[in-house]
Amino acid sequence: MRISLLRGDITEQQVDAVVNAANSGLLGGGGVDGAIHRRGGPAILAECELLRTRDYPDGLPTGQAVPTTAGELPARWVIHTVGPTYAQSADRSAQLADCYRSSLRVADELGAGSVAFPAISTGIYRYPLDEAARIALRTVRETPTDVADVRFVLFDDAALSAFEAAR
Ligand code: ADP
Repeated sequence: MRISLLRGDITEQQVDAVVNAANSGLLGGGGVDGAIHRRGGPAILAECELLRTRDYPDGLPTGQAVPTTAGELPARWVIHTVGPTYAQSADRSAQLADCYRSSLRVADELGAGSVAFPAISTGIYRYPLDEAARIALRTVRETPTDVADVRFVLFDDAALSAFEAAR
């Protein structure tokens, strides 16, 4: 597996699947979630609404992942996963690792050879970048998968530096 780190906007990635740092409601939100729904168009939201009513009436649990179409994005699929909200009082690193593991499992089920990840939980969910980067890289490296090309698409210099330092 090749792992690359780049600065950019995940919605522009030419990959089989892009991972969305969604919230459990699956109906869109801010940050990368908002960008994916804005750029991908209404087809993504329509599938999310169906998943929510049919399969996840209480929301998608933290650490799990589900696929939808990527709508108008260059990618073929969006894999939605729900990261943990950071808390100083509780170690949620296992849940963050679960996001990467579940997303790679879904990618394998789809037959996706290339996957782009954002820095899950490091925005609105406030996970410290250096810790999140270590968990992300370690988990992706240690997860058995057929995905050959994993890209971490970091939105700003701080996120890119944190991932480079953790590499
Ligand atoms: P979470 O709720 O999991 O914290 P956010 O979307 O708020 O999710 O933030 C996750 C990371 O995604 C943050 O580092 C944020 O800067 C980054 N981000 C926001 N928009 C984009 C985008 N278009 N492409 C890639 N990363 C993005």
